[in-house]
Amino acid sequence: MRKFTRLAEILVEDGLAPNGFHVPAPALFSWLELAHDPRYVEAVLAANVDPVVERAIGFRVDERVAMRSRCATGGTLLAARLALEAGLACNTAGGSHHASREGGAGFSVFNDVAVAAAVLLADGEADRVLVFDCDVHQGDGTARIFADDPAVFTLSIHGERNYPTQKARSDLDVALPDGTGDEPYLALLPDLLRHALEAARPDIVFFNAGVDPHAEDRLGRLALTDRGLAERDRRVIGFFRERGIPVVGVIGGGYSRDIEALARRHSILHRTASEFG
Ligand SMILES: [Zn+2]
Repeated sequence: MRKFTRLAEILVEDGLAPNGFHVPAPALFSWLELAHDPRYVEAVLAANVDPVVERAIGFRVDERVAMRSRCATGGTLLAARLALEAGLACNTAGGSHHASREGGAGFSVFNDVAVAAAVLLADGEADRVLVFDCDVHQGDGTARIFADDPAVFTLSIHGERNYPTQKARSDLDVALPDGTGDEPYLALLPDLLRHALEAARPDIVFFNAGVDPHAEDRLGRLALTDRGLAERDRRVIGFFRERGIPVVGVIGGGYSRDIEALARRHSILHRTASEFG
């Protein structure tokens, strides 16, 4: 949890938030129930989640955790609306992509990207959405939530042998072998980006910039470097910005006991986004 605070500090220290931060409203029940079972949403808001579901999530959902999850989700929706206005905006949290309609899983309480996408679609702010998920774990929750929704195209580039063991079916899945490094990873992007653009024809792109494909990540199993992650982010953001399509960045996963190194790694997203002014 400490990485979020440190990330925000680093963005200020390094001049990447010259006008401060936009502060989101906590997600409302009426937004959350667009992507999640209302009974599950009620349970989270009451800090009364079934212990079986809490075990699947990986921690207890108390009131603090519930509020943090609502704020992260509000942050992704706010970033999406800012991106629709300005072309590009990034959350300092978000990317909880294992939460599905029935409930949370894999450190994910609410699926912020799914909720934000569902709100934009319901409000008519977007007609078509692309989720471009580069977190090293499959975006299984997002894939399941939108499995029958032709307005949302889900793409996941992940480690084949990584969590979740039971993969969902995204609209496009790319499963990578353990130890995949910068060059083979980056070489995949041009075709994937072109394919995703043609298949999705999105009004907005949610980009999960998880840093867990990094070689030093505790859970990742891949072997990207900081330079490789920056180049990944540059290519994904650049591809859509060159075509005038708004991009929302969320930080996704990253697991290291070295909080300073981890928070710096997450700041690659905002650093790279700032190149696009
Ligand atoms: Zn992950």
